[in-house]
Amino acid sequence: MHVTIDGETYEVEIIRKLGNRNTYIRVKKDLKIYVTTNTFVSNREIEKLIYSNTEFIAKMIDKVDKKKEKDEKFYYLGSEYDKVRTSTKGIVLGSQSVFLGKEITKEDIDKWYKKQAEKIFSEHLENCYKLYSRNIPHPTLTIRKMTSRWGVCNTRSKRVTLNLELIKMPLFCLDYVIYHELSHLIYANHSKDFWTLVEENCPEYKKIRKYMKED
Ligand SMILES: [Zn+2]
Repeated sequence: MHVTIDGETYEVEIIRKLGNRNTYIRVKKDLKIYVTTNTFVSNREIEKLIYSNTEFIAKMIDKVDKKKEKDEKFYYLGSEYDKVRTSTKGIVLGSQSVFLGKEITKEDIDKWYKKQAEKIFSEHLENCYKLYSRNIPHPTLTIRKMTSRWGVCNTRSKRVTLNLELIKMPLFCLDYVIYHELSHLIYANHSKDFWTLVEENCPEYKKIRKYMKED
């Protein structure tokens, strides 16, 4: 069963036990609504009960959401930071904590990541290009969030696309992905020759791939 509260759809998990006298509504960490009740209460009645308690449920969801956000760590260049909400504005990175202004949203954090990535990724791409063992065309850089890969190389347009998520990883991961994508400018496949070329430029690539759980 699904319900919509404040425009968001939530899954409802119904737990029926013969011995339950009352019906309870809870929201758990997975942001699902759990209804514990007995075998005599119908789904329709449960739905009614939920919709007559939306204000209370919305409060529970909000509370779980806030706790979840606080428990989620902040990652930057392979280090982990605690999130601390402050009354000041913006995002400030400390040595163990990241200080986030009250108004800072997930989108703001992504924007901040993107800003850092634009500088760091282009510097590293430039550097790897300079150090590269063979003659290759100068690539252009695109940065975006991707879900299934760390990098893409368009051999025709000589464009290297790097996953924004790399900003959360140690820099050796970034360099490996860059060398990997640059090697595609010579071999468009993942042949034995390709991996030899990757190793020529990034001798530790096997360990790094393991670290990144790429294989
Ligand atoms: Zn590849």
